[in-house]
Amino acid sequence: MSSEFLSFIDECSQQLQPLERAFGLASWESATQGSEKENQREKETQAELLRFWADQERFEIAKRLNQARHPDPLVSRQIKLLYLGFAREQQSEAEIEALTELEADVRATYYNFRAEIDGEKVSDNDLDRILKNSQSSEEVRTAWEASKQVAGPVADEIRELARLRNQSAQAQGFRDHFARSLTFEEIDEGFLMDLFERLDRLTLEPFQRYKANLDRSRASRFGLDASDLMPWHYGDRFFQEAPPMDSDGLEKVFEARDPIDLALATYDGLNMDVRDILDRSDLYARPGKNQHAFCIDIDRQGDIRTLNNLEPNMRWIKTLHHELGHGVYSKLHDPHLPWLLRQPSHTLSTEGIAILMESLVSDPRWMTGVLGLPDAEAKRLADAAQQRAVARQLVFTRWVLVMTNFERLMYADPERDLDDLWWGLVEKYQLLKRPSGRQAPDWAAKYHIALVPVYYHNYELGHLFRAQVMAHLEADFGGLVGRPEAGDWLTDNIFAPGARHDWAKHLEAATGEALNPAHFAAQFG
Ligand SMILES: [Zn+2]
Repeated sequence: MSSEFLSFIDECSQQLQPLERAFGLASWESATQGSEKENQREKETQAELLRFWADQERFEIAKRLNQARHPDPLVSRQIKLLYLGFAREQQSEAEIEALTELEADVRATYYNFRAEIDGEKVSDNDLDRILKNSQSSEEVRTAWEASKQVAGPVADEIRELARLRNQSAQAQGFRDHFARSLTFEEIDEGFLMDLFERLDRLTLEPFQRYKANLDRSRASRFGLDASDLMPWHYGDRFFQEAPPMDSDGLEKVFEARDPIDLALATYDGLNMDVRDILDRSDLYARPGKNQHAFCIDIDRQGDIRTLNNLEPNMRWIKTLHHELGHGVYSKLHDPHLPWLLRQPSHTLSTEGIAILMESLVSDPRWMTGVLGLPDAEAKRLADAAQQRAVARQLVFTRWVLVMTNFERLMYADPERDLDDLWWGLVEKYQLLKRPSGRQAPDWAAKYHIALVPVYYHNYELGHLFRAQVMAHLEADFGGLVGRPEAGDWLTDNIFAPGARHDWAKHLEAATGEALNPAHFAAQFG
């Protein structure tokens, strides 16, 4: 019987490796080149991979072997991962065709679309700059509206994607795609929704206090009454980040600093070499290139790359630290693990590490040790940085509540008035004002809703994961920045085990306790 387990694992791994690699390479080419040819290639390789996972016969075998439970934990975990992969992607050939075709269309629009202001094309980085730096209500409003232009051309297609994803989920007996996604990524929906309600209660009051303060600062910046503030006055397209407080001077110290130099210093200080990752990466903006950032492990054998659109400012310095966090997690798996286990334990775990690395940039010890600020200046900025870090968690948590609840309700009923649903949630969780008379599918301007569906909760869980791991590092090593022994602990306890354990057990094995939101809550006082 044992040999059936091993030969099934072997057969699946052999077939998956080239399929996954081909899809990885094609996604990379399409994101960096943005041409129709590359986009088609991505679509085809994605369909090949989906066809592998849609195979019903293999699904039945995986299900049977998973229920039989092999005594060797490495074998049974590999079988479990195969079972989850097959279960998640059970769908017909027609559904695969329709889904990949539609996703390719939507992807092409996002990659190639450039907003226009007064007939001039502007990039996302341009819009971000205006939203962040302008003090003119007129200018930020125009930029914010321009940032929503991409929504119109894709909204109907996204709704159709939701219907298609639901169709295969419902054929499997699930309520909808949202429920199916969580089940097969080993997250209990009841647990998640309870946790998010708790986070809502936990953050509401501190967020109200923070926002009242912020509103005063934004109102004076724009020469308005606080009651006249609109969603475009908050420094980014979705109010997903805490805007700089005008007085804290934090952005200034990052100006003209090279993100690469800083990231190298950070990771060298943790005994993690990222030079090979950077060498394979695509780091600067170009027309036709994906304007977001991501990290990809092409082959689980060291070909790891990151796409960025770097500029010498705080946002991109943080983003590069984030993406390289994914990078080292993938790079530093135990190379002796079987191929199927050479991946992070879960999306939330790799997001947790990426967020942890990104958060170092707001750590006063990083400001002296890596950024090289004199002690006095670092001290002066440390407070601001800490406040900003707490504000970021609050703002981000409220934003995730919008995203996750929107997706849950969209999949529950894709036919409903999604424009109205979106603004209702934005008002409720982010305490922003709906622009009166605005009729537009503003939700569709958010890339994840279309192409990284039912994913956003992983960022929030990643924040909880980060807080717990960081508490452990503080207790045992006195922090992380410039402490190679703390870096080694991460490598040995978080990265090396790969996907040996499910996310909950992995976190518990590393830190000695199950996921405990108290570490995250502690920062709100
Ligand atoms: Zn990430």
